[in-house]
Amino acid sequence: TSFGFKDVREEEKSQMVGNVFSSVASNYDIMNDLMSAGLHRLWKDRLVSKLNPFPGMKHLDVAGGTGDVAFRILETINSVDHRALQDALEDNLQEETQICVCDINPNMLNVGKKRAQERGLGNHRSLIWVEGDAEALRFEDNSMDGYTIAFGIRNVTHIEKVLAEAYRVLKSGGRFLCLELSHVEVPGFKQLYDYYSFSVIPALGELVAGDRESYQYLVESIRRFPPQEKFASMIADAGFQKVEYENLVGGVVAIHSGLKF
Ligand code: SAM
Repeated sequence: TSFGFKDVREEEKSQMVGNVFSSVASNYDIMNDLMSAGLHRLWKDRLVSKLNPFPGMKHLDVAGGTGDVAFRILETINSVDHRALQDALEDNLQEETQICVCDINPNMLNVGKKRAQERGLGNHRSLIWVEGDAEALRFEDNSMDGYTIAFGIRNVTHIEKVLAEAYRVLKSGGRFLCLELSHVEVPGFKQLYDYYSFSVIPALGELVAGDRESYQYLVESIRRFPPQEKFASMIADAGFQKVEYENLVGGVVAIHSGLKF
């Protein structure tokens, strides 16, 4: 079941992950569409609808890459009922919306900034791009209404540190949401999914990004990521309450959530 990545040490792991995202930053969005047959768009929509974004919110999207989640949050807020917005403004409740995209890889952020420009969000004051490590965030305690991480936590070195940081930066009442590739246990579908992961994905990686090994590594990292229940208990251990998760496509991905009381 291993592709020779079993004994990868931690430094090598971060380096390898770094390489994957540097070498594919520009191919990244195409690969996402190809590998998930476009489904990642629906999964991200679902993530943002669970977040329930509101005008004036301070939100942090960690491992935000090329901005997919942040754009959706901003567009949802901009489409919010203007009557409600007007009332909030009149009541002086309306603070400035801030959506921070934080990522360790500047190449990903640069692709994101370019995409923001193309979408007409380039000079949007609410959109803030920050280079930084999910394990050591440079944001203040109790400063965020929401925290999202999509397809990001699987590749970090210490999941616990990321969860502790998420808890620290959230305000009381703040929401943690994580979208991640997870574990399929549905008989029949599981075999199909395994075949797809171990045969099709590496071949696509070679064809499109010219990098078979990195995509094999990504598949292996999905297998190593804690199963849904285990990950939920790690989120609870970080201090979150009301921890729950939703499987999508039989567990190909899961959305975990928690609240900071
Ligand atoms: N969230 C985006 C999306 O769903 O399209 C990007 C997901 S991409 C698979 C994973 C991202 O995690 C990459 O942009 C990578 O640079 C970032 N990343 C990896 N380790 C990180 C860390 N320790 N802190 C912050 N970002 C990290």
